Amino acid sequence: QAAPGGLGDADDAGGRAHFVFVPLMAQGHLIPAVDTALLLATHGAVCTIAATPATAARVRPTVDSARRSGLQIRLVEFPLDPAAGLPDGADNMDNVPPEHVGSYFAAVARLREPIESYLRAHAPFPTCVVSDFIHPWTTVLAANLGVPRLSFFSMCAFCLLCQHNVERFGAYEGVADDNEPVVVPGLEKRVVVTRSQAPGFFRESPAWKEFADYIERARAEADGVIVNTFEEMEPEYVAGYAAARKMKVWAVGPVSLYHQQRAATLLAARGCATAAIEAGECLRWLDGKDPGSVVYVSFGSIAYAGAKQAVELGLGLEASGHPFIWVLRNADEYDAAAREFLGELEARVAGRGLLVRGWAPQLLILSHAAVGGFVTHCGWNSTLEAVAAGLPVVTWPHFTDQFLNEKMAVEVLGIGVSVGVKERLIYQAVEKEIVVGRGVVEAAVRSVMGGGEEAEERRRRARALAAKARVAMQKGGSSHGNLLDLVERFKAVS
Ligand code: UDP
Repeated sequence: QAAPGGLGDADDAGGRAHFVFVPLMAQGHLIPAVDTALLLATHGAVCTIAATPATAARVRPTVDSARRSGLQIRLVEFPLDPAAGLPDGADNMDNVPPEHVGSYFAAVARLREPIESYLRAHAPFPTCVVSDFIHPWTTVLAANLGVPRLSFFSMCAFCLLCQHNVERFGAYEGVADDNEPVVVPGLEKRVVVTRSQAPGFFRESPAWKEFADYIERARAEADGVIVNTFEEMEPEYVAGYAAARKMKVWAVGPVSLYHQQRAATLLAARGCATAAIEAGECLRWLDGKDPGSVVYVSFGSIAYAGAKQAVELGLGLEASGHPFIWVLRNADEYDAAAREFLGELEARVAGRGLLVRGWAPQLLILSHAAVGGFVTHCGWNSTLEAVAAGLPVVTWPHFTDQFLNEKMAVEVLGIGVSVGVKERLIYQAVEKEIVVGRGVVEAAVRSVMGGGEEAEERRRRARALAAKARVAMQKGGSSHGNLLDLVERFKAVS
């Protein structure tokens, strides 16, 4: 009989690696961390994932199903201290109001003690902490347990290296204007950024400087890096980042491919126990469309289109003439006029356009043959999920690493068309009324979805990348080899 949250047979884990994952409680960090844990468990490791309760609920179906299939993985809940004064149930970045973000991070850091006590009390003893890079306090957790700590990133190595070089060489020093173009130092390729687009994590505002410096120290002191990318896609950047950091980098992606063979209902529940559209309905809708004809539109789990932007986006999609699935994360917050617009649009495009108000089964959709392109905010998971599905993208970055991911898609991989956003759109209190017009949306969608040599070439490149991604994850592939290496290297010493 396993202890509550125990591992059954694995309580006697006999020399196996035991990775403790401490993901950032945000879908874009949580989902790939859970996928990585599932992959490591598939290759024989024991994995424990620590999460706050509302966060854990979102990945519980996925982890439970893996446990039922015999993987040695457990998901353990750690509630935040009520004294932190957070609103009820707010324990994930997508439900913590911006004014509470500071106290939220402080409360999450106080999870170190309960996590440590739990790990001491529940065998097997960990052999490695895999911590989201935004949890610098896990340096103390790993040190107290006497085990190595790896930083986990669901980012491309291109982005990691650009950010690192900008910071290391002080590229923004003396640059007064946030929109002044700056060449990223130390790269062979000429990559131009602005501070507004790529300030670095928590470098947007001086208020966060201390936290950003703390994160950087913890990154520099890590025992290695796990990153959701694959070597064949960006060999020079994976090697470049390892050399710049002087640490081992394990590229283990695309980790979403773990789900490749899963049932539709399981796929639909990835990252959120309840999708806003039922898997069967979604598949039936897609089955009725021609191969490669549908454009999928989503801005991920945090970014969203404001009311005015939603109107322009909707009109642009309608004018493009292509069938579309459009995910609206916050449609219930729109004013009456925008809601009325959406209702009328839905009636006009009935059968051709599907609006999903809430969480969409993204992987299920992207892996359907009817989908031919993706309008994305360039969150790294979405970008890599497009790569894994062999899809070209319309790039529409909003904040954090998304502008660098756009450069990756457009300038490095050659699979994207940009809508041309030049400045950060949302981040904490910063919200701008920059609206991309319907004509720009229509043109970008037509360009990615249409015929012509350029579009065909983009599609060919996307398909070739998808083939390489699959090979990377198969036996003998680079990511597969890196996963095996992790499982071997962090084995328990008996
Ligand atoms: N996602 C999803 N359905 C949604 C919105 C997001 O399945 O309706 C998943 C998506 O597949 C990806 C993650 O949530 O794995 C979002 O991560 P990403 O890095 O793309 O963006 P973020 O949400 O961090 O901005």
